[in-house]
Amino acid sequence: MNSFSKGALYVVATPIGNLDDLSRRAMDTLAQADLIAAEDTRHSVRLLDHIGVRVPLISLHEHNETSRIERIKQALDDGQRVALISDAGTPLISDPGYRLVQALRAADYTIVPIPGPSALITALSAAGLPTERFLFEGFLPARGSGRRKRLNDVVELPVTLVFYESPHRISQLLEDIDTVCGERHLVIARELTKTFETFLQGTARSLLERMAEDSDQMRGEFVVMMAPAPEKALTGSSQVDADQLLSSLLEEGVGVKQAAGVAARILGGRKGDWYQQAQQLKDSALRK
Ligand code: SAM
Repeated sequence: MNSFSKGALYVVATPIGNLDDLSRRAMDTLAQADLIAAEDTRHSVRLLDHIGVRVPLISLHEHNETSRIERIKQALDDGQRVALISDAGTPLISDPGYRLVQALRAADYTIVPIPGPSALITALSAAGLPTERFLFEGFLPARGSGRRKRLNDVVELPVTLVFYESPHRISQLLEDIDTVCGERHLVIARELTKTFETFLQGTARSLLERMAEDSDQMRGEFVVMMAPAPEKALTGSSQVDADQLLSSLLEEGVGVKQAAGVAARILGGRKGDWYQQAQQLKDSALRK
């Protein structure tokens, strides 16, 4: 069995559905804790009963987190081992705990992560979408206007986007993705690690049609992932902007090489390509 230092906070990930996903180290940590701070103590009792752990519990949720900080500091100062858990997955990931960990980190307490399940990483690991860069947006605002604004803010990013959503709002989220993002490729992971685990993929519109045909597809918990926006090609309106930028620089007497360097820095792409474009613009200006 692992042994654990006294006076430390252990941030323990717990299963997102399948109880067998609780790691050996997580079990040992919970068994050796003197105090467990849980998002919902009644919910966590079921997990602790399942592994035969009986340790004093206190609640720590979004409405009492700040007032719990002093209580937990006191326990740590008394040399207790304190574990932090949430209802499911990794604490702090769309779950309480950030304010506590921030306060303890600022005061130089020992904080030990005990890694394990998180719906975000579980979903990404099997979605088949690019993972070298992704943006986790968590839950979007509940109000439609706020949700559409946040979608607008991120729709052009060339990275995989990841959202959490509840069954109450999954169809509204898909409607808004359809409105703001159009035909983008989505992968939806539902009920991960549970009996009805399902991955669906397609456009927002096709997924809405699928859910309308089979309402079971709207039940449970969801991770919605969107493929990265395609990198902008140097065509259409970008071409016009690029030409305007290069022409203005050339008119100001900037050399072709320097103009290409500025365009590459501002617009991205290869300096050599911008050099050719700037040279063509200069040649055609001279011919006029
Ligand atoms: N801390 C958790 C984590 O590490 O993933 C997230 C907690 S957050 C309050 C709950 C949301 O996570 C759900 O609404 C859903 O979007 C996602 N989620 C949690 N468990 C899931 C599961 N088994 N399958 C799909 N999504 C899940």
